[in-house]
Amino acid sequence: MGQQISRRLFLKGGLATAAGLAASSIPGTAAAAKPDDGKQLATLLDIRKCIGCEACVEACSEVNFDKYPDPQKPFPKMVPNRVPVEDWSEKKDVNDRLTPYNWLFIQHAEVKIDGQETELTIPRRCMHCVNPPCVKLCPWGAAKQLENGISRIDADICLGGSKCRKVCPWHIPQRQTGTGLYLDLMPSMAGNGVMYKCDRCYNRIAEGESPACIEACPEDVQTIGPRDEILKKAHALADEINGYIYGENENGGTNTIYVSPVPFEDLNNAIEKGKGKPHLSPVEDTMARANNLAAAMFVAPIAGIAAAVGKFYKRTK
Ligand code: SF4
Ligand code: SF4
Ligand code: SF4
Repeated sequence: MGQQISRRLFLKGGLATAAGLAASSIPGTAAAAKPDDGKQLATLLDIRKCIGCEACVEACSEVNFDKYPDPQKPFPKMVPNRVPVEDWSEKKDVNDRLTPYNWLFIQHAEVKIDGQETELTIPRRCMHCVNPPCVKLCPWGAAKQLENGISRIDADICLGGSKCRKVCPWHIPQRQTGTGLYLDLMPSMAGNGVMYKCDRCYNRIAEGESPACIEACPEDVQTIGPRDEILKKAHALADEINGYIYGENENGGTNTIYVSPVPFEDLNNAIEKGKGKPHLSPVEDTMARANNLAAAMFVAPIAGIAAAVGKFYKRTK
């Protein structure tokens, strides 16, 4: 069994080995941090300071360029034909929404502050939930949460089924067709690509650097630190400016905390929302729902095996 392992041989012989590997690495259990266990890193975004210059958006594209998809064409025909092709490879420059090639964008809101029409600009990307449904409910174990609270999708394992986008209250992950494991495993039957989103520059953080968007910002809009400290700062700032907080409790709490001088209801009414353009509405705790808790328990072992199968396949390819 070498470089040229066949798909049939892999499926026949690989599963048992993979199941063994899975026992020691079941995503959604070992990788699932307890909600706010003190190790999670959060970011505070002071919306007043953002001038909408998009230096953060450019920095994000530059440092993450190598992680972006390079799809094979023509795309395999899906059977049944119910999974739509999502192809952003000819629209890589789109930067007014989230795409597989744009993990951060700036939302605009015209609001009144002290009776004055004011334009606020809001950097938007994955919220990095404390208890992320995209991770807990990914059937393949492709989405993971690191100990420091970062959630990321492993492009080597993801089959592009988009469960993560469906269960995310903000529908953040974005699919690119024609790339990833499904092309080798089941090109016509499953998935349809790979899902992409902000990974909080996990590789930079692992090396002691800041996320690129934070480093590039000329206005110091974002601050990163342990979640409890970030929450203290957010409350102090909100008290100082008579402001409002988003992210402390949304979806059971996120590691992205916005502070705004106007209520988030006003911001939510003023921003453009839709596909790839997340809202700022209140969000209940998705993972507290009984059916999702049950689904997560059911999914974890399957995800462990699937993730190990994916890793095994990559290694033997
Ligand atoms: S915002 Fe969505 S994609 Fe990001 S961690 Fe939460 S559930 Fe996952
Ligand atoms: S943390 Fe990194 S990946 Fe996420 S938006 Fe900022 S630069 Fe992009
Ligand atoms: S770089 Fe800073 S000021 Fe410019 S758009 Fe991004 S967050 Fe706002």
